[in-house]
Amino acid sequence: MHEWSLAEAVLKSSVEEAQKRDLKRLTEVKVVLGELQGIEEEIVKFGLDNLKKGTMAENANFIFIKEHASFQCRNCQNIWELREVDLNDYSIQESIHFVPEVVHSFIRCPKCGSPDFEVVRGRGIYIKEISGED
Ligand SMILES: [Zn+2]
Repeated sequence: MHEWSLAEAVLKSSVEEAQKRDLKRLTEVKVVLGELQGIEEEIVKFGLDNLKKGTMAENANFIFIKEHASFQCRNCQNIWELREVDLNDYSIQESIHFVPEVVHSFIRCPKCGSPDFEVVRGRGIYIKEISGED
């Protein structure tokens, strides 16, 4: 399952980062989750709780920070957020979460109506910060 491989990747990257810094144990990991990624945070957490056993991250607290998606219009430079867009149709939201690229089919710049925009934030998942003990 997608969430489990993500949990594995998060664990692996945090352990590697901790090793680079010569830490013996991880105590806290802050993970940023992009809104467009549509990840089930609870499943990733559950995966991590299982996978971290026996690793240096066994007692680490994984904290998830949701990053809201925002876009910038290439035509008029307007910047707006996904939550400002009226997405009443649930199936549209689901499509966006399933394939972030599809966002261009459903969303237009609210100011000038152009479909030509870039995703500024809210895509992907990354580790923002780790803390540990030497
Ligand atoms: Zn525009």
